[in-house]
Amino acid sequence: MTRNMITPAQNTWCPGCGNFSIQHTLKDILAGMEKEGRSLDDVVLVSGIGCHAKIADYLNINTVYTLHGRTIPVATGLKLANPDLTVICCAGDGDAYAEGLDHLIFAAKRNIDLTMIVHNNRVYGLTTGQYTPTSPLGFKGKSTPKGTAEYPFNPLELMLASGATYIARGYTRKQPQLGQLIRQGIAHKGFAFIDVLQICASFFNMTEYYQSRVYDLAGHNARDFGAACAKAREWDYNRDAPISLGVFYEQVFPTFNERAPARHISREERSHQIHDLFETAK
Ligand code: SF4
Repeated sequence: MTRNMITPAQNTWCPGCGNFSIQHTLKDILAGMEKEGRSLDDVVLVSGIGCHAKIADYLNINTVYTLHGRTIPVATGLKLANPDLTVICCAGDGDAYAEGLDHLIFAAKRNIDLTMIVHNNRVYGLTTGQYTPTSPLGFKGKSTPKGTAEYPFNPLELMLASGATYIARGYTRKQPQLGQLIRQGIAHKGFAFIDVLQICASFFNMTEYYQSRVYDLAGHNARDFGAACAKAREWDYNRDAPISLGVFYEQVFPTFNERAPARHISREERSHQIHDLFETAK
């Protein structure tokens, strides 16, 4: 019998929130994996703090709810301790690009084999509307009533410079494409980064803006670093410009697990060691 992928936990996201789209995209991907015969016991979803993080309560798989900005250290530990796991991180833009920025850069630099999905609504929604590192210049929110004086940074450029080996951008109102990008990211061996333009219906509703600007990357060579940089720079998360969606960059490169001089042990041996650990802790 296949499991119900959505838990009975009360969902407190606002109506129209883009988190629903990411949740249901992941639900379909996970159900598909199960149908293909993969055990979801080998999948872990790690979330941070913020509206996005409730996905850990709402999806019926193994999840870890971490501290603010600390999805990647936890996910890295999981992957290093058990390389058989498929590790997916969900983080907000505050979580990934502010509190957890150094971890994000180092995960890309190390090419840790995990999938990072950033719910980038460009605002702190849970705390009711403060600016984040990707809010546009002049954004008026709770902490900047006269408008922020900071330019946003471009997370795609940052990831290209940091060494991520899969870099994509999706949009919560283009769910089939988003599903394809996440599926590809999970299949990718190495650090897969997906920036998802997410609608925050309550504090920064960019639907109209995105709808008239997004287009699909077509004929783009994702193996070409220079072309990826040029495409990433087309829109800087601030000025008015066309916004491309799709895979910007993809490269095959040894993962941290493959390069680390860690002791490789079999799945059975690892299970025994974990069992022994729990026994001694009794
Ligand atoms: Fe979604 Fe924004 Fe509401 Fe948070 S505040 S649940 S991000 S719509």
